[in-house]
Amino acid sequence: MKRTAVFAGSFDPITLGHTDIINRALPLFDRLIIGIGVNSRKKYLFPLAERKAWIDTLYQSEEKVEVMDFTGLTVDFCRQHNAQFLLRGLRNSQDFGYEQPIAQLNHQLSAGIETIFLSCLPAYSHISSTIVREILINNGDASPMLPGMLSKKICDLADSLHH
Ligand code: ADP
Repeated sequence: MKRTAVFAGSFDPITLGHTDIINRALPLFDRLIIGIGVNSRKKYLFPLAERKAWIDTLYQSEEKVEVMDFTGLTVDFCRQHNAQFLLRGLRNSQDFGYEQPIAQLNHQLSAGIETIFLSCLPAYSHISSTIVREILINNGDASPMLPGMLSKKICDLADSLHH
């Protein structure tokens, strides 16, 4: 059985914090599904098609990575794709406090899906999509927090959505 993990999030947009976790998790798994969660009650800055295309561009030559979107419970998405692991990134103790009960609940709900936490590298602990969006909306330069090959595209789209 392939060791398959799901890395779920909004990726609105994908940041260097996300890619740090993805890249460091790749040697641990045979298959890594990046799952873009779609929640009808949540408002996003960037359209789903762009968020997905950006991640596709980054990982097009990485055979282990698949990019998909999903609705509903993350554990159900894991089951549909035979994923035994949920991958999460931790920035600080606040993230841990938020993530631990979710991991415990997901374990119970799914009869055994294990959540694997990776701690981010110190250089990325201040990065979040929320902060990136805040900077972009206020015409600041978010490029140091974004993957180099995407930063222009992301900043340009934010600019055009904003004006
Ligand atoms: P959500 O909308 O569920 O909060 P995100 O797209 O913000 O999703 O995050 C998805 C995952 O990426 C989460 O596990 C989150 O902790 C992790 N993550 C986000 N930013 C960082 C970062 N700077 N360092 C480590 N992990 C991060």
